[in-house]
Amino acid sequence: MALTWLPPADTGAVVKDLTRGFFVDFGHIPDGVWAAPGRVNLIGEHTDYNQGYCLPFALPHRTYAAAATRDDGILRIASVQKSSGWEGKVTDVRPGRPDGWTAYVAGVVGVLAEHAGAGAMGVDLLVDGHVPLGAGLSSSAALSCSVAVALRDLVPALADLTDEELASACIRAENEFAGAATGGMDQTVSLRAVDEHLTLLDCHDFSVTPVAWTLPEHEVLVIDTRVHHSLADGQYAARRQTCELASSALRLASLRELDPARLDDEDVRTALAGITDGLPRVRHVVSENQRVLDLVAALSEQDARRVGSLMTASHRSLRDDYEVSCHELDVAVEAALEAGAPGARMTGGGFGGSAVALVRRDAVERVAAEIARAFDQERLQAPAFLAAVPSGPAGRLR
Ligand code: ADP
Ligand code: MG
Repeated sequence: MALTWLPPADTGAVVKDLTRGFFVDFGHIPDGVWAAPGRVNLIGEHTDYNQGYCLPFALPHRTYAAAATRDDGILRIASVQKSSGWEGKVTDVRPGRPDGWTAYVAGVVGVLAEHAGAGAMGVDLLVDGHVPLGAGLSSSAALSCSVAVALRDLVPALADLTDEELASACIRAENEFAGAATGGMDQTVSLRAVDEHLTLLDCHDFSVTPVAWTLPEHEVLVIDTRVHHSLADGQYAARRQTCELASSALRLASLRELDPARLDDEDVRTALAGITDGLPRVRHVVSENQRVLDLVAALSEQDARRVGSLMTASHRSLRDDYEVSCHELDVAVEAALEAGAPGARMTGGGFGGSAVALVRRDAVERVAAEIARAFDQERLQAPAFLAAVPSGPAGRLR
């Protein structure tokens, strides 16, 4: 069975094509080309909006943005992946206008225009995404962050913005303009990743700690199930709401503050009793935070088995307590484990998207083939595979 691998793009070729495409679309050459990575989260799922921990890393797969400023306050947006774009005044951009995919881009421009002085900036933008769209690998943040770094470099009034401030602008663009709920992990890692490192992100204050990959004989295999369940948005909002209800019932600022040892306490049980699925949802968040910290410790001890078992425990928790997995993700995880992977889990928001497996380097092809075979046996659409190498942050290419 032929496997589908999604390699990162050849940067030189993309820059050349994008520069040419920009000229065709807009009639002049871009001021430069920027890129921002997608990410994969090794562990720490649905913890970001609970002010907890997660451990993502930037992928070598990026979204590229060619940009040129204009002095007439007009914004023009196009994507290699989409047949339609948008053109309008920057001052007309607001939540929901434009809508669809261009909201991610216009949202960043709109938010940053507030910093720069409304109406002061116009820009032509052509993007080319090499992070699979909607696969749970954060093509949306790759898109918004590629635009954000371009604007910071091009607009003098934005030059002093820090990576944290750019991340906040991108989070606002996704939440308010594109109407896509996001907890902030994706934008933070896309802008602040350190090459060859994972990023331990504390979503309480968005502080980041680079974590070295200490398992040279192992790598992370990403399995894109190629399913994107439409239920996901409502479910994501529902999980967030349950967590908010639970933390206020517990009189905590966030679930991050709940000690895992207290889950069995009578007062905690009583406080959560009135919230539908309150206890299992809280148990996931609290235990997941601990697993992130345990996995970082396991990495420092170069303990691949422990890293793997924490990943698998995370999957079971997401499947059984948080109930955000789906058949395809479960098939991917179980097939990886049966093929000998030390650990595997769903990654991203759930209900489709991608899974990750810790795999010995010499077994990657074989494990991928076993997973593809399991999908075939279950009559599921063939998955796609990415070799995930911890990569660097967004920046300028040309
Ligand atoms: P993920 O971030 O996991 O890939 P999302 O649903 O959050 O999934 O974001 C995917 C959406 O982001 C797409 O449906 C599209 O609206 C937008 N998007 C991402 N990359 C591009 C691109 N290169 N061109 C146009 N739209 C894009
Ligand atoms: Mg996204």
